Amino acid sequence: MQHLNLQHFLSKLISSLSKRIFIFSVFLIPVLTWGGVLAPRDVAELLDGKYIVGEIQADIPAYPLFIQNKVTPSAKPDLVGYAFETIDLEPVRGYSGKPIDVLVVIDTAGIYRDVRLIEHKEPFFLTQTGTAKLIDFASQYIDLSLHHLVELLAWNESGNRDTQTAQLSGVHHGTVTARAINRSILSAASQVALAKLDPSLANPSENSKPLASQRQSNSDNYTPLTFDELVSNGLVTQTVVTGGNLKDMFAKSQAPVESTESTLANSEEVLVFHTALLGNPMVGRNLLDDDGWRYIKNKRRTQQALLLTLSDPKHLINEHGKWKIEQMPFKLTQDNKEIQLLPIDFQKRLRVQTKPPSSAIYVLLIEKATPLDPAKAFDLKFSLQRRYGINFVLNKTEKRDVLLNHRFYGLNAWWADLRFTNWLELDWVKLWITRQVEIAFLIFGLMVLSVGLVAQKRVSKNRLQFKIFRTIYLIFTLGFIGWFAQGQLTILNITSAISSLRAGGDLSFLISDPISFILWIYVFLSLFIWGRGTFCGWLCPFGALQELTSMVSQKLGLRQRRWRQSLDLNLKKIKYVIFVLILLSMWIAPSETDMLVKVEPFETAISFYFINEWPYVIWALICIGFGTVIYRGYCRYICPLGAALAAVNFLQRWSWIPRRQECGTPCQTCRYRCEYQAIKPTGKIDYAECFQCLDCVTIYQDENVCLPMVQTANAHRNISIKLEPML
Ligand code: SF4
Ligand code: SF4
Repeated sequence: MQHLNLQHFLSKLISSLSKRIFIFSVFLIPVLTWGGVLAPRDVAELLDGKYIVGEIQADIPAYPLFIQNKVTPSAKPDLVGYAFETIDLEPVRGYSGKPIDVLVVIDTAGIYRDVRLIEHKEPFFLTQTGTAKLIDFASQYIDLSLHHLVELLAWNESGNRDTQTAQLSGVHHGTVTARAINRSILSAASQVALAKLDPSLANPSENSKPLASQRQSNSDNYTPLTFDELVSNGLVTQTVVTGGNLKDMFAKSQAPVESTESTLANSEEVLVFHTALLGNPMVGRNLLDDDGWRYIKNKRRTQQALLLTLSDPKHLINEHGKWKIEQMPFKLTQDNKEIQLLPIDFQKRLRVQTKPPSSAIYVLLIEKATPLDPAKAFDLKFSLQRRYGINFVLNKTEKRDVLLNHRFYGLNAWWADLRFTNWLELDWVKLWITRQVEIAFLIFGLMVLSVGLVAQKRVSKNRLQFKIFRTIYLIFTLGFIGWFAQGQLTILNITSAISSLRAGGDLSFLISDPISFILWIYVFLSLFIWGRGTFCGWLCPFGALQELTSMVSQKLGLRQRRWRQSLDLNLKKIKYVIFVLILLSMWIAPSETDMLVKVEPFETAISFYFINEWPYVIWALICIGFGTVIYRGYCRYICPLGAALAAVNFLQRWSWIPRRQECGTPCQTCRYRCEYQAIKPTGKIDYAECFQCLDCVTIYQDENVCLPMVQTANAHRNISIKLEPML
């Protein structure tokens, strides 16, 4: 009894610790920031001493590179290019949720002269072999120019290049990583070119080929809209002040709007404001010309920018002498804190066809020290002053604030984004289109599984037919989902998601891997209906590999063992301990996380087809071999992903496996037949450990095996219950 209590206590402790650590890891750890790691001396060494490396530039984090003038060595060295770390300019997060740092050298003609991987945490590439793959990928940019239109191919396609375009071979099992490297190199190089080189390198004419970086960047995506469309969709908001409003505002002041100004009809529009958040490409690209947008785009990683226009159709301000505004009449507050605004001298015109008639246009940058969160409410006010005084000397003023409308967040903003995003131009949509056949095949497979699970009784009624169906499905899972489409879900998906959220990022990187993305959505939904077993029992390629290997080994006469129930229950806790250790390590020893997640043999067995460094291959074989002795031993006792899914199995809402009153008392048939030992002595199903093999559903319907059914059919017949030998 005491023993059971201790077990109960331990499992409660582990599960409660897991939840707390998870929450702590995700939300309470401070947001991490990154910066380059190389000093000029390091850059010089890395570039094999070919260049004299100057000091980092004040306007952009790039090092000028010089070489000695060979003709006149005493002359000043010649500037030949710039070196920069992409992490300083465009820290694009990879699969790990952390940016990949690449040292790039471009010459003054905009040619990539050197590209070197400096640092990465990409989980699939932490071994020497893996890192070498990324180094090879990055080196493909050498000798391309900024004007090349770059396209990423699949890992098994050969690269190609001409003077205008370059197709680069992707990285096996590294779509997200390759895209992150690509984006960071192209975008960082474009920024350096814009700041330091001939602007035409970063700003080709309308007729020339667009910059690779511009074409590759999601952030430029927009649909051309007229000004009225921008306003009607809330992307530009309008505030109208009427004559009546002005009279009301100043009615109880020293400077009421006098009868001499009664020509201001109450309904007449006197001041009209338009407000827009320029960092949103849909707004910025429609409102600004190319130079203006590029300026805002380069700023927007650290600073938001607002565009405010004021039109004054009655020429009220200044002309009547009674109205006045300050040089900076706007005030912005968020969470009761004033946000500092920096007007920029912005000479570019508004680009939209029907720009508002405005007497003043303000482009205001938000100061870095007081950042604005545009996804939260804020107050934007315009301060209007009315002069008054004695004997016609208007030397005093009354001040009133006009609250300006804006709504750049919430449902409106989300809906406008959804409607006007040019989906076909998004990188991830293009990627999904290239994999449409695989996606269709996967969705078909998931539909078959869903129908099978809904019609579980019918599907499993005939034991032989069901066994054939299950075997074919497991072959589909291993062969298609795992080895072909590379859709093995892994604990790395979870650790990467946590890392990304911790780092202030989001989960958008997951969408670049369509097979895993669709599987995760399906697994998440199925957790609510059937529990974790839908994935572990049917969709996990490594699980399928173990099960198929067990089938073969049993055919070869290898007998499987069962642990005693108490031992089995205790061993099942090991996987939770491993899962908790992985979560803990992310917090207290992040460098160890990479090692701990290697407990998963998926990478070796599924992603790399057993071609990996030998310790990993041996470990994968041990896990598979274990499964031939103890049914799905790795899944039940070791797998941290299985533990993560089992830990949230409480989401499952439907006890879908049919049970009878006699299950448990007196009948123990299903319990002894369940290879996963997921049925309790009471006859209840432990859904967190159930792999949905449907064996018990078959038994439930078998009048030759299910005890109550047999008893009903033949009260005097002896039932043989096959008991497996226990260790
Ligand atoms: S327990 Fe792990 S290896 Fe087994 S099926 Fe589930 S996720 Fe796959
Ligand atoms: S036999 Fe065991 S693992 Fe299979 S469905 Fe029944 S309870 Fe789940």
